[in-house]
Amino acid sequence: KLVSREFHPEDSVVKVGSVVFGGPQVVVMAGPCAVESREQVMASGEFMQQLGVPVMRGGAYKPRTSPYSFQGMGVDGLKLLAEARERFGVMIVTEAVDHGSLHHVAEYADIIQIGARNMQNFELLKAVGQTGKPVLLKRGLSATIDEWLMAAEYIAAHGNLNIILCERGIRTYETKTRNTLDISAIPVVKQLSHLPVVIDPSHAAGTWQWVAPLARAAVAAGADGLIIEAHPNPAEALSDGPQSLNFPHLEELVGSLRKVADAV
Ligand code: PEP
Ligand code: MN
Repeated sequence: KLVSREFHPEDSVVKVGSVVFGGPQVVVMAGPCAVESREQVMASGEFMQQLGVPVMRGGAYKPRTSPYSFQGMGVDGLKLLAEARERFGVMIVTEAVDHGSLHHVAEYADIIQIGARNMQNFELLKAVGQTGKPVLLKRGLSATIDEWLMAAEYIAAHGNLNIILCERGIRTYETKTRNTLDISAIPVVKQLSHLPVVIDPSHAAGTWQWVAPLARAAVAAGADGLIIEAHPNPAEALSDGPQSLNFPHLEELVGSLRKVADAV
Protein backbone atom coordinates (compact mmCIF):
# COMPACT_ATOMS: atom_id res chain seq x y z
CA LYS A 1 0.00 0.00 0.00
CA LEU A 2 1.11 3.51 -0.84
CA VAL A 3 0.74 4.81 2.71
CA SER A 4 2.53 1.86 4.31
CA ARG A 5 6.02 1.85 5.78
CA GLU A 6 6.85 -1.16 3.59
CA PHE A 7 6.18 0.86 0.46
CA HIS A 8 8.14 3.87 1.71
CA PRO A 9 10.51 3.06 4.61
CA GLU A 10 11.59 6.67 5.26
CA ASP A 11 9.36 9.18 7.05
CA SER A 12 7.64 11.26 4.43
CA VAL A 13 7.39 15.01 4.77
CA VAL A 14 4.48 17.17 3.68
CA LYS A 15 5.47 20.70 2.73
CA VAL A 16 3.03 23.57 2.92
CA GLY A 17 4.88 26.68 1.81
CA SER A 18 7.84 26.83 4.18
CA VAL A 19 6.07 24.70 6.80
CA VAL A 20 7.29 21.10 6.99
CA PHE A 21 5.24 18.32 8.57
CA GLY A 22 7.18 15.18 9.43
CA GLY A 23 10.52 16.95 9.88
CA PRO A 24 12.36 17.78 13.12
CA GLN A 25 10.00 20.63 14.08
CA VAL A 26 6.65 20.08 15.77
CA VAL A 27 4.19 22.17 13.74
CA VAL A 28 1.53 24.03 15.69
CA MET A 29 -1.73 24.90 13.96
CA ALA A 30 -4.25 26.93 15.92
CA GLY A 31 -7.30 29.10 15.50
CA PRO A 32 -11.02 29.12 16.02
CA CYS A 33 -13.31 26.17 15.42
CA ALA A 34 -15.34 28.27 13.01
CA VAL A 35 -14.85 31.44 11.02
CA GLU A 36 -17.39 33.82 12.54
CA SER A 37 -16.54 37.36 11.47
CA ARG A 38 -13.83 39.51 9.90
CA GLU A 39 -12.89 40.87 13.31
CA GLN A 40 -12.50 37.39 14.80
CA VAL A 41 -10.43 36.03 11.90
CA MET A 42 -8.11 39.04 11.71
CA ALA A 43 -7.58 39.07 15.49
CA SER A 44 -6.72 35.37 15.26
CA GLY A 45 -4.37 35.79 12.30
CA GLU A 46 -2.54 38.64 13.99
CA PHE A 47 -2.10 36.65 17.18
CA MET A 48 -0.84 33.53 15.35
CA GLN A 49 1.71 35.66 13.51
CA GLN A 50 2.93 37.24 16.78
CA LEU A 51 3.17 33.85 18.43
CA GLY A 52 4.97 32.25 15.50
CA VAL A 53 2.16 29.74 14.88
CA PRO A 54 2.63 29.09 11.16
CA VAL A 55 -0.78 27.59 10.30
CA MET A 56 -4.19 28.98 11.24
CA ARG A 57 -7.28 26.81 11.42
CA GLY A 58 -10.92 27.88 11.06
CA GLY A 59 -13.91 26.15 9.52
CA ALA A 60 -16.02 27.93 6.94
CA TYR A 61 -18.19 24.82 6.51
CA LYS A 62 -19.10 23.19 9.80
CA PRO A 63 -20.38 19.62 10.25
CA ARG A 64 -22.54 20.35 13.31
CA THR A 65 -24.35 17.67 15.28
CA SER A 66 -27.51 19.78 15.33
CA PRO A 67 -28.97 21.32 12.17
CA TYR A 68 -29.97 24.33 14.28
CA SER A 69 -26.35 25.13 15.26
CA PHE A 70 -24.24 27.66 13.32
CA GLN A 71 -23.32 26.02 10.00
CA GLY A 72 -20.46 28.28 8.95
CA MET A 73 -19.94 31.28 6.67
CA GLY A 74 -19.16 29.30 3.52
CA VAL A 75 -17.26 31.04 0.72
CA ASP A 76 -17.35 34.38 2.58
CA GLY A 77 -15.51 32.64 5.41
CA LEU A 78 -12.92 31.19 3.02
CA LYS A 79 -12.27 34.68 1.65
CA LEU A 80 -11.65 36.00 5.16
CA LEU A 81 -9.15 33.19 5.78
CA ALA A 82 -7.34 34.01 2.53
CA GLU A 83 -7.25 37.68 3.52
CA ALA A 84 -5.69 36.73 6.88
CA ARG A 85 -3.05 34.70 5.02
CA GLU A 86 -2.18 37.75 2.91
CA ARG A 87 -2.02 40.06 5.91
CA PHE A 88 -0.31 37.86 8.47
CA GLY A 89 1.58 35.25 6.47
CA VAL A 90 -0.16 32.27 8.09
CA MET A 91 -0.99 29.15 6.09
CA ILE A 92 -4.64 28.12 6.20
CA VAL A 93 -6.19 24.75 7.11
CA THR A 94 -9.97 24.53 6.66
CA GLU A 95 -12.52 21.79 6.19
CA ALA A 96 -14.31 20.61 3.07
CA VAL A 97 -17.54 18.80 3.94
CA ASP A 98 -18.70 17.68 0.51
CA HIS A 99 -18.05 17.85 -3.22
CA GLY A 100 -19.81 21.20 -3.45
CA SER A 101 -17.50 22.87 -0.94
CA LEU A 102 -14.34 21.03 -2.00
CA HIS A 103 -13.51 23.11 -5.05
CA HIS A 104 -14.00 26.33 -3.09
CA VAL A 105 -11.87 25.03 -0.21
CA ALA A 106 -9.17 23.85 -2.66
CA GLU A 107 -9.07 27.32 -4.17
CA TYR A 108 -8.55 29.21 -0.89
CA ALA A 109 -6.92 26.77 1.55
CA ASP A 110 -3.32 25.60 1.88
CA ILE A 111 -4.40 22.39 3.63
CA ILE A 112 -7.77 20.75 3.05
CA GLN A 113 -9.21 19.25 6.23
CA ILE A 114 -11.35 16.14 5.96
CA GLY A 115 -13.31 15.88 9.18
CA ALA A 116 -13.90 12.86 11.38
CA ARG A 117 -17.46 12.48 10.09
CA ASN A 118 -16.24 12.29 6.52
CA MET A 119 -13.30 9.93 7.03
CA GLN A 120 -15.09 7.20 5.11
CA ASN A 121 -16.79 9.43 2.55
CA PHE A 122 -14.92 7.57 -0.17
CA GLU A 123 -16.11 9.74 -3.05
CA LEU A 124 -14.92 12.84 -1.21
CA LEU A 125 -11.58 11.12 -0.51
CA LYS A 126 -11.14 10.33 -4.22
CA ALA A 127 -11.91 13.92 -5.12
CA VAL A 128 -9.49 15.29 -2.54
CA GLY A 129 -6.88 12.92 -3.95
CA GLN A 130 -7.34 14.47 -7.36
CA THR A 131 -6.72 18.02 -6.05
CA GLY A 132 -3.11 17.09 -5.20
CA LYS A 133 -3.23 19.59 -2.32
CA PRO A 134 -2.05 18.85 1.24
CA VAL A 135 -4.79 17.08 3.19
CA LEU A 136 -5.36 16.82 6.93
CA LEU A 137 -7.24 13.55 7.34
CA LYS A 138 -8.95 13.24 10.69
CA ARG A 139 -9.60 9.85 12.23
CA GLY A 140 -13.29 8.89 12.30
CA LEU A 141 -15.20 8.96 15.57
CA SER A 142 -15.20 5.18 15.82
CA ALA A 143 -12.63 4.23 13.19
CA THR A 144 -9.91 1.68 13.78
CA ILE A 145 -6.36 2.56 12.81
CA ASP A 146 -6.60 0.19 9.83
CA GLU A 147 -9.78 1.90 8.60
CA TRP A 148 -8.14 5.30 9.01
CA LEU A 149 -5.07 4.21 7.04
CA MET A 150 -7.30 2.74 4.35
CA ALA A 151 -9.06 6.10 4.07
CA ALA A 152 -5.63 7.70 3.57
CA GLU A 153 -4.97 5.04 0.93
CA TYR A 154 -8.00 6.30 -1.03
CA ILE A 155 -6.43 9.75 -1.22
CA ALA A 156 -3.02 8.33 -2.12
CA ALA A 157 -4.46 5.98 -4.75
CA HIS A 158 -6.00 8.99 -6.47
CA GLY A 159 -2.67 10.69 -6.89
CA ASN A 160 -2.07 12.57 -3.66
CA LEU A 161 0.50 11.55 -1.07
CA ASN A 162 0.47 14.95 0.68
CA ILE A 163 -1.45 13.49 3.60
CA ILE A 164 -1.19 14.48 7.25
CA LEU A 165 -3.01 12.09 9.60
CA CYS A 166 -4.85 13.63 12.55
CA GLU A 167 -5.92 11.76 15.69
CA ARG A 168 -8.74 13.72 17.39
CA GLY A 169 -10.05 11.30 19.98
CA ILE A 170 -12.28 8.28 19.54
CA ARG A 171 -15.59 7.27 21.07
CA THR A 172 -15.25 5.02 24.13
CA TYR A 173 -17.37 4.29 27.21
CA GLU A 174 -15.85 7.32 28.95
CA THR A 175 -18.13 10.35 28.98
CA LYS A 176 -16.14 12.85 31.07
CA THR A 177 -14.04 13.76 28.06
CA ARG A 178 -15.74 14.52 24.73
CA ASN A 179 -13.66 11.74 23.16
CA THR A 180 -10.79 9.58 24.36
CA LEU A 181 -7.47 10.72 22.91
CA ASP A 182 -5.75 7.65 21.52
CA ILE A 183 -2.14 8.51 22.27
CA SER A 184 -1.19 4.97 21.19
CA ALA A 185 -2.15 5.92 17.66
CA ILE A 186 1.05 7.96 17.40
CA PRO A 187 3.62 5.15 17.76
CA VAL A 188 1.34 2.59 16.10
CA VAL A 189 0.69 4.70 13.00
CA LYS A 190 4.34 5.72 12.83
CA GLN A 191 5.30 2.07 12.68
CA LEU A 192 2.68 1.19 10.06
CA SER A 193 2.92 4.29 7.89
CA HIS A 194 5.44 6.88 6.72
CA LEU A 195 2.91 9.72 6.88
CA PRO A 196 3.15 12.55 9.43
CA VAL A 197 0.77 12.33 12.40
CA VAL A 198 -0.69 15.30 14.25
CA ILE A 199 -2.94 15.46 17.29
CA ASP A 200 -6.08 17.50 17.91
CA PRO A 201 -6.30 17.63 21.71
CA SER A 202 -9.26 20.06 21.59
CA HIS A 203 -11.89 17.73 20.13
CA ALA A 204 -10.56 14.92 22.32
CA ALA A 205 -10.78 16.88 25.57
CA GLY A 206 -13.91 18.90 24.94
CA THR A 207 -12.86 21.12 27.85
CA TRP A 208 -10.15 23.75 27.52
CA GLN A 209 -8.41 22.99 30.81
CA TRP A 210 -7.45 19.50 29.54
CA VAL A 211 -6.07 20.62 26.20
CA ALA A 212 -2.57 21.62 27.33
CA PRO A 213 -1.69 18.36 29.14
CA LEU A 214 -2.93 16.30 26.17
CA ALA A 215 -0.95 18.47 23.76
CA ARG A 216 2.22 18.00 25.78
CA ALA A 217 1.62 14.25 25.99
CA ALA A 218 1.24 14.15 22.20
CA VAL A 219 4.55 15.92 21.65
CA ALA A 220 6.26 13.62 24.15
CA ALA A 221 4.84 10.61 22.28
CA GLY A 222 6.30 11.79 18.98
CA ALA A 223 3.50 13.70 17.24
CA ASP A 224 4.62 15.76 14.25
CA GLY A 225 2.22 18.55 15.07
CA LEU A 226 -0.88 19.77 16.84
CA ILE A 227 -4.11 21.42 15.78
CA ILE A 228 -5.59 23.43 18.62
CA GLU A 229 -8.79 25.44 18.91
CA ALA A 230 -8.22 28.99 20.15
CA HIS A 231 -10.59 31.94 20.09
CA PRO A 232 -10.23 35.64 20.93
CA ASN A 233 -13.24 35.27 23.25
CA PRO A 234 -14.15 31.60 23.87
CA ALA A 235 -17.25 32.52 25.90
CA GLU A 236 -18.76 34.09 22.78
CA ALA A 237 -17.68 31.40 20.29
CA LEU A 238 -20.41 30.13 17.94
CA SER A 239 -18.85 26.66 17.96
CA ASP A 240 -16.76 24.65 20.44
CA GLY A 241 -16.22 27.53 22.89
CA PRO A 242 -15.86 25.26 25.96
CA GLN A 243 -12.83 23.50 24.44
CA SER A 244 -11.24 26.63 22.95
CA LEU A 245 -8.20 28.24 24.55
CA ASN A 246 -8.08 32.00 24.92
CA PHE A 247 -4.95 33.64 23.49
CA PRO A 248 -2.98 33.95 26.75
CA HIS A 249 -3.54 30.24 27.42
CA LEU A 250 -2.48 29.35 23.87
CA GLU A 251 0.69 31.37 24.34
CA GLU A 252 1.44 29.60 27.62
CA LEU A 253 0.90 26.20 25.98
CA VAL A 254 3.10 26.95 22.96
CA GLY A 255 5.89 28.04 25.32
CA SER A 256 5.64 24.84 27.32
CA LEU A 257 5.70 22.65 24.18
CA ARG A 258 9.22 23.78 23.35
CA LYS A 259 10.42 22.40 26.68
CA VAL A 260 8.71 19.05 26.07
CA ALA A 261 10.13 18.78 22.55
CA ASP A 262 13.64 19.56 23.87
CA ALA A 263 13.28 17.00 26.65
CA VAL A 264 12.43 14.03 24.41
C1 PEP B 1 -13.18 20.64 13.72
O1 PEP B 1 -11.97 20.55 13.47
O2 PEP B 1 -13.72 21.70 14.11
C2 PEP B 1 -14.00 19.42 13.62
C3 PEP B 1 -15.29 19.46 13.30
O3 PEP B 1 -13.31 18.30 13.93
P1 PEP B 1 -13.70 16.75 13.85
O4 PEP B 1 -14.01 16.47 12.42
O5 PEP B 1 -12.46 16.08 14.34
O6 PEP B 1 -14.88 16.56 14.77
MN1 MN C 1 -14.44 22.32 16.45
